[in-house]
Amino acid sequence: MMHAGSGGGWRRRAFLEGCAAWATAAAAGDSAANRESPPRTGEGPAAAFEPRYARLHRSGALRERADRLWRRMAKCDLCPRACGANRLEGEAGLCRTTAELVVSSHRPHFGEEPELVGRGGSGTIFFSYCNFRCVFCCNWEISQRGDGEKVSVERLAGMMLDLQRMGCANINVVTPTHRSAHILRALDAAAARGLRLPLVYNTNGWERPDVLAELDGVVDVYLPDHKWGSAEAGQKYSGVPDYPSITQAALLEMHRQVGVARPDPDGLIRRGLIVRHLVMPNRVAGTREVLRWIAEHLPRETYVNVMSQYTPYYRAREHPEIARRLTRAEYDEAVTWAREFGLTNVRTQRMPLL
Ligand code: SF4
Repeated sequence: MMHAGSGGGWRRRAFLEGCAAWATAAAAGDSAANRESPPRTGEGPAAAFEPRYARLHRSGALRERADRLWRRMAKCDLCPRACGANRLEGEAGLCRTTAELVVSSHRPHFGEEPELVGRGGSGTIFFSYCNFRCVFCCNWEISQRGDGEKVSVERLAGMMLDLQRMGCANINVVTPTHRSAHILRALDAAAARGLRLPLVYNTNGWERPDVLAELDGVVDVYLPDHKWGSAEAGQKYSGVPDYPSITQAALLEMHRQVGVARPDPDGLIRRGLIVRHLVMPNRVAGTREVLRWIAEHLPRETYVNVMSQYTPYYRAREHPEIARRLTRAEYDEAVTWAREFGLTNVRTQRMPLL
């Protein structure tokens, strides 16, 4: 299935995909990550950098890990839903995917955190479908309706190399959880053809520890959400059980693997953990609990992006408590909590607020 590739349709899609971050340097208000000049790519630290997956590729371990993940699709447990679908035989799981790969787009994206963007943009690859059912999803045509194009693993590897040729700062796989096997196979093929950009794993945070173990030494930058402070909110608004406990265990494992995200001298982050939290109206996200947990369980200098861009897309208007944007007071309250809990590396946004 082809998605709209030009004109208004493309611009609409670009806008929607941009809502995943909107943390541009111009929009960002925090001092820690603002740079006097944009980070450069292709020189200095970039030239010296070797992605973590390169070593596993050379030893053959990357292909072995990819194959192990691939076999798990026969009774799929690649995400915590563990729904058991035989995707290899064409059965769709709760994420509505089989083993057939569908990609919405691949292109440089300038709306991510500035340390992931540089001059060339973050090399995003948007995978279609999702294991969540967020009622406010700003990408619902992609995540729920599955808009996108069927592609082979070889083509996915080609997309990664395309993004490298375009000068992107990294390969940023968006909504990767149900596609981890495909990503590792493609990464192995692309590494053989010269890929050397950092891999950014841009996830809803709801990950299995045994899958994360397969990603140890593969992922350079983990970019998870910590969406919900309570299991009830995760169930009600994203349709998943046990969100905080599962995600918090995942965040600890991600931090163990890659540590605190710190920019290189050129301003780009090539390794580490960046946590995103979207503040919601009427405190429904449990922002206070989320920020307190981060402060108490991860280093205080953990990079936390406290996001203000919430907009009531998709079916949000069926829930009156989230049927509007944030107020200034709601967002300021969240930032104050982050400071009170002692977090020292908080990125804030200056999106229009009510
Ligand atoms: S990735 Fe999809 S098919 Fe696999 S367990 Fe999760 S929801 Fe089921």
